Amino acid sequence: MSDLATYAVSSENSRGRSIKEKPPLGRSEFQRDRDRIIHSSAFRRLEYKTQVFVNHEGDLFRTRLTHSLEVAQIGRSVARSLRLNEDLVEAIALAHDLGHTPFGHAGQDALNECMKDHNGFEHNLQSLRVVDILEERYGAFDGLNLCFETREGILKHCAKKNAKKLGDVGTRFLINQRPSLEAQLTNLADEIAYNNHDVDDGLRSGLITQKELEEVSIFSRHLAMSKKLYSGISGRRLIHETIRSMINTLVSDLIKQSTANIKDIQPDNLQSVSVAPYLISFSEKTKKEQQELKTFLRNNLYQHFKVARMSNKAQHTVKMLFNIFSEDPRLLPLKYQEKSHKNKHQAITDYIAGMTDRYAIREYRRLFSIEAN
Ligand code: MG
Repeated sequence: MSDLATYAVSSENSRGRSIKEKPPLGRSEFQRDRDRIIHSSAFRRLEYKTQVFVNHEGDLFRTRLTHSLEVAQIGRSVARSLRLNEDLVEAIALAHDLGHTPFGHAGQDALNECMKDHNGFEHNLQSLRVVDILEERYGAFDGLNLCFETREGILKHCAKKNAKKLGDVGTRFLINQRPSLEAQLTNLADEIAYNNHDVDDGLRSGLITQKELEEVSIFSRHLAMSKKLYSGISGRRLIHETIRSMINTLVSDLIKQSTANIKDIQPDNLQSVSVAPYLISFSEKTKKEQQELKTFLRNNLYQHFKVARMSNKAQHTVKMLFNIFSEDPRLLPLKYQEKSHKNKHQAITDYIAGMTDRYAIREYRRLFSIEAN
């Protein structure tokens, strides 16, 4: 890994793992982190967790698993160009959504509301909880014992009151420092991935149309370019070419602007990255265009009445589960019942946040339908 930049995270300058382990053989520390994440059960559950569309709505829509793979793919390309640590970016990307509830943002909002008197629910914090505590795979420790930099990247946001309880990984929120460039990059790779795949899934679902999207400047420009380049194409093929072209442009813009930012500040190690402004960024023009696209998606897709109906049902399901378990923790499976003796609300949160969409639907039926068992 000697071709890494001096401001990249490496096995050598890493702050290491909470519990000391022998260095891995034949792979780097961050390849080991990635491998542990892939083998975790929370990772397998991502296949059945909603991104925008609930799992049973169709087989071709993104799930949290395919979303995470797309983030990893985009992130790795950019990392390579900037001589950042590709393995760390991949590890963060694959783990960044592990703490998501079933039913996407609707589920998370519902759980946050249920927990409002008990510190709330934050999915980034829950992702960290999964890799730090909840995975039960290793004899020597709880969780996956990942490197500091992987954990730091997973904890994208965090309220100050929660950061105070986290030790080293929470400190940067309290003293206003930046995470590694790999973490900054994964965050923007996430944004590129979801904006573009939500356009794709939105069109596929029929909830938004190509005509409506033509009012969004980045889409209409790339649509025109794709039509010019391949005069005979239409339908899905044209949409895919347009989206491919948008992703390419965003990735190039991110590389170009970040390279300029790095050249400007000239960080020479991790410490100088942490006190510099955010160095991984889009150009101002691209930021504006991305904002326009996000606003379009919010108004036309995420708030579409059909999505809102499903979100409403999802919130109802999560709240009903939370309430019934709070009223009577004896209804929890034994493992969570035991945990509930120590901290009832945390045990219920861990149980619900770990559910896939279909598991939550089944559990709701088992608890509220007299005919289900
Ligand atoms: Mg994401």
